[in-house]
Amino acid sequence: MKIGRLPKDDKTNGWSAALPDRNPHDVLTGDVTADWVVLGAGYAGLAAARRLAENCPDHKIVVVEAGQAGENASGRNSGFGIDLPHNVGSSLDELEGSHRFMRLARMAIDHLEGVVETNGISCDWSRAGKFHTAVSPRGTRDVLEPFRNELEALGEPYEWIEGEALRKRLGSPHFTAAVYTPGCVLMNPAALTQGLADSLPENVTLCENSPVTEAEFRNGVILKTANGSVRAPKLIMAANGFSEQFGFLPRRFLHLIAHASLTRPLTEAERKIYGVEGEWGLTPVNAFAGITMRYTQDHRILIRQGLDYRPGQRIAPNEQAAIQRRHKQLFDDRFPGLEAVEMEHTWSGFVCLSRNGAPAFGPLTPNIWSAVCQNAVGVTKGTFGGILAADLATGRDNPLIADMQSLGEPDLLPPRPFLDLGVHARFRWELWSNRHEA
Ligand SMILES: Cc1cc2nc3c(=O)[nH]c(=O)nc-3n(C[C@H](O)[C@H](O)[C@H](O)COP(=O)(O)OP(=O)(O)OC[C@H]3O[C@@H](n4cnc5c(N)ncnc54)[C@H](O)[C@@H]3O)c2cc1C
Repeated sequence: MKIGRLPKDDKTNGWSAALPDRNPHDVLTGDVTADWVVLGAGYAGLAAARRLAENCPDHKIVVVEAGQAGENASGRNSGFGIDLPHNVGSSLDELEGSHRFMRLARMAIDHLEGVVETNGISCDWSRAGKFHTAVSPRGTRDVLEPFRNELEALGEPYEWIEGEALRKRLGSPHFTAAVYTPGCVLMNPAALTQGLADSLPENVTLCENSPVTEAEFRNGVILKTANGSVRAPKLIMAANGFSEQFGFLPRRFLHLIAHASLTRPLTEAERKIYGVEGEWGLTPVNAFAGITMRYTQDHRILIRQGLDYRPGQRIAPNEQAAIQRRHKQLFDDRFPGLEAVEMEHTWSGFVCLSRNGAPAFGPLTPNIWSAVCQNAVGVTKGTFGGILAADLATGRDNPLIADMQSLGEPDLLPPRPFLDLGVHARFRWELWSNRHEA
C-alpha cells in the first residue's frame, strides 16, 4: 500500500534551535533485512527499540524515521514528564486507575532518567515538579480543591499555594492558586529525544530522513522509502497519529495542533526585575482556555497556548506570525515589567488523542504491535507504551502490561463530517464555559 500522508517538519522548533548542530543517522539505503522494524523515532519508537535490543540481544532492530529525532512531536513539546493524571476522580475505581497510571508513568520517568544518567544526555533533566494553576476563584473551587482532595485520597504529596506566596514562586500576579506536586520532570525535549536516539544499543540501526512511502504486510513486513527498503518478520508501530496512514486503527484518532513560543533568554537586568531564580513549570486547570508555561534553566519563558482540531495534520505557512503575536500578548499580561522580552521562536506540533483518552496499545496483527495514541502526555505515555509493546511482542513477563491493558482501547469516532461538527462544537463550548480560566 502507498502511504497517503507523510509528516512534514516546518523547521521552527525552538528547543532544537538552542542546541548544537547534530549529524543525523544515515538515510535508509538499499534493501535491508532485520529481525524487527520499528516505525517512528519519538518516545514510543525509541523506547521500544531500546527494550527490544535488551530483550533480544542477538536480534537486529531497524528504526525508520521520516524526519530527524528531536524535530518530531517528541522534540517540540513543552517538556513535562507527567507522573500524575490531570483528572483523578474520587471513586475507588478512579483512584485505582490513577494508581495504575502513576505506576506506569513513574516507571517511564525512572527509565528515562536512567538512560539520561548512563549516557550523559545533556537535556536539562530536572525533577522540578509542577504547579497546577487556576486563574479564577471558580477554577480554584471547581478544579483545584477537588484535585487536592483526590491527592489526599491517593496519599500523594502536594503543596497548596495561593496569593502572594504563589506570585513569589512564579513571578507573576496572574494566578489565584496552585497545587504543586513534586514528581513531574522538566527537560529540553529536543535534547532528550536526540540523546535517546544517539545512545541506542549496538544492535539497533536508526535511519533518519527516511519517510516510508509504501508498506507491504504479507509474509512479514516490508517498508519502502525513496532509497531503500527494510524487511522484517515483526513490526512495532510507533508513528503515533500517522499510523492510520498504514491502514491501522481507522476512525480512532483526533488530530489536534498545539502551539508554543519561547522567549529569548532574559538578561541579567531583566532577571532582577523578574525576581525568580529557579526553573518552574505550570499546567492550567483547563487545557483549552488556559496556558502551559515554563521558566527554563537558561532563563527563557515558554508559552504553550492554543489547541485546534486539525484532521489534515498540516499548518498553513502564515499561521505562526499571528500565534506569536497572541503569545506575546499573553506573556505581557502575565509578566508586567518584561515587555521588552521578545518571543524568539514560535512553533506548532500535532497531538493524537482518542475520544476516551485510551492508548492504542497491543497487537494489531499476529506480527505487528502498536504503541501509539499518547493523548498529549507522550513523554511518559509514549515511553511506557514503547517499553511494554516490546515486552508483549517478545513474551517478556511484566506485570505492568496488565496496568497498560486496563487503560482500555480508543473508542470508534463518528464519520466525518459529523466528527468535525462535533469537535468544533465541543471546542467552542470548552472555551466559552472556561473563559474565566483564560
Ligand atoms: C506543542 C506541544 C506540547 C506538548 N507538551 C507535552 C508535554 O509537556 N508533555 C508530554 O508528555 N507531552 C506533550 N505533548 C505531546 C507529546 O509531544 C506527544 O504525545 C509525543 O511526542 C508522542 O510521541 P510518539 O513517539 O508517540 O510520537 P512522535 O514523536 O510523533 O513520533 C512518531 C514518529 O513517527 C514518524 N513517522 C510518521 N509517519 C512516518 C512515515 N511514513 N515514515 C517514517 N516515519 C514516520 C514521525 O516522523 C515521528 O517522528 C505536546 C505536544 C505538542 C505538539
